[in-house]
Amino acid sequence: MIFITTKCSICNKTPVIINCKYNGQKLCHTCFNNSIEKKVLQTIKKQKLITKGDKVLVALSGGKDSVALIKILNILKERRIIELEALTIDEGISGYRKEGVRIAKETTEKLGIKHHIVSFKEKYNFTIDSLMEKESKKEYPRHACTYCGVFRRQIFNQVARDINATKLATGHNLDDETQSIMMNYMEGNINNMVRIGYKTQSSDEKFTVKIKPLREIPEKELGLYVLENNFEVHFDGCPYARHSFRMEIGDFIREINQKHPTIMYSTLNGFEKIKPAIKEEFIKKENINKTHQTCSICGEPSSDTKCKACKFLDEIYDN
Ligand code: SF4
Ligand code: ZN
Repeated sequence: MIFITTKCSICNKTPVIINCKYNGQKLCHTCFNNSIEKKVLQTIKKQKLITKGDKVLVALSGGKDSVALIKILNILKERRIIELEALTIDEGISGYRKEGVRIAKETTEKLGIKHHIVSFKEKYNFTIDSLMEKESKKEYPRHACTYCGVFRRQIFNQVARDINATKLATGHNLDDETQSIMMNYMEGNINNMVRIGYKTQSSDEKFTVKIKPLREIPEKELGLYVLENNFEVHFDGCPYARHSFRMEIGDFIREINQKHPTIMYSTLNGFEKIKPAIKEEFIKKENINKTHQTCSICGEPSSDTKCKACKFLDEIYDN
């Protein structure tokens, strides 16, 4: 939407392209672009997400969030602060993933960034589609995201280690993070909840540190950022996301956000304040006797003798 007569809160020029209700700012094209890039770079600095010399692997799906992320991280690559590579995972979701892979490929070619593509088909010899077809015949089928998330995590960790990446950057935005906080709280998943953060790290050196530089940017603004800059992105959503709990929570948050535009920021900030206390109370007590283990099958770090991905693979190959 373009607001013809309103003036930009920063430079006084017209037209204004966005009215940010959560802070009262109205911004023109240039000031909006600058504000997004500045905010992301400030988050990186404030939260110490990146240090000079880091090799950053970007999880690049070809969607608006990851394309915006790689374009902004490319600023740091051009300033010779970091090395940058990208990884796209093809889960085998017909009518959806192919386009994302094409866009990811073109984006990295244009930026001169090394691009890795790993498919479930090549690595595991199944696709999410074929898995779901089998699953639909079961009495209690698992959701596609349950499998997809576990296998994707395994691939991200392995590739990050193979290329000696020091950071793994994902395009999680403010909406995603607010959803994760609400979902885990409502499901009573306190262990998962305290892992939500700007940076996820483990004392196990086999884990590459994961960072979320877009965590303070609302999804809508990332959509506008890629449109205003004519970046080619894949706007379609995954067909399996429709039936997920995350989607229901997302719809709920979007609805209350209409009347209460600061609600996502206050949820995130409130969570950051109580997180240390929750960690202290629950995690230390629960983990006191746990030591790091390695999966006996794939060698990945795991809380058990067999990691979740290998447990799933056993089930899949047995059936
Ligand atoms: Fe995988 Fe679920 Fe994401 Fe689709 S929505 S790509 S199935 S995790
Ligand atoms: Zn394993």
